[in-house]
Amino acid sequence: MKFSGLQKTSLIDYPDKVASVLFTPSCNLRCPFCHNWRIVIDPKPPFLQDSDALDILERRKKYIDAVVITGGEPCMHKELPQFLAKLKDKGFQTKLDTNGFFPEMIKKCLLFLDYIATDIKTSPDKYPKLGNMEISKLIKTIDILKKSKVNYEFRITVVPRLITKEDLTVIGQLLRGSKKLVLQQFVPNDTLDKEYENLKPYSLDKIEKFAEIMRKYVKNTSVRL
Ligand code: SF4
Repeated sequence: MKFSGLQKTSLIDYPDKVASVLFTPSCNLRCPFCHNWRIVIDPKPPFLQDSDALDILERRKKYIDAVVITGGEPCMHKELPQFLAKLKDKGFQTKLDTNGFFPEMIKKCLLFLDYIATDIKTSPDKYPKLGNMEISKLIKTIDILKKSKVNYEFRITVVPRLITKEDLTVIGQLLRGSKKLVLQQFVPNDTLDKEYENLKPYSLDKIEKFAEIMRKYVKNTSVRL
């Protein structure tokens, strides 16, 4: 397995833990608001090999509690479960960030995960805007996580155009009864589709109102700015 980058220290990527973050290359989606588009559309060397990543993490063990695997889409890499197993062997807490389109891979990874964050990008009928017509796999992931004992959260970045009150009502029905939902602010910087840099993010007040709507479906809904 290879990575496009490693962020040595993050205080925001794993709830309440100090983490290192590994970025995997490539993604099955093309979200217009993506900030990591360079490693999504044309991942370029140098890549960090998994053995080198493990060496670096081992040396940082006294500073970090956890390792977060993000992307790109980590679940596109078939060696992911084995890599997570190695992290657990070394005593790290593990977290995976995913877009949820690889339920079978997620099932395999759950054995070696302490936390999983799955992004819900928009309502089902708008997923074609992200390059995916078929969301049955995402629905399957939602179902797997609802039944899982592993700590998880669903995340929605509240991008105007992709997330409206109407979209949230549809998404709410999909997520009904989930353990945790986080609404995140959209940052219109360095996006894949440059038009999205001109979008005005929703006000905090509006996002709080969105959270109130979502609490009807997921009691534990919070806002992360
Ligand atoms: S799923 Fe994530 S990494 Fe992939 S295109 Fe969308 S925002 Fe970018």
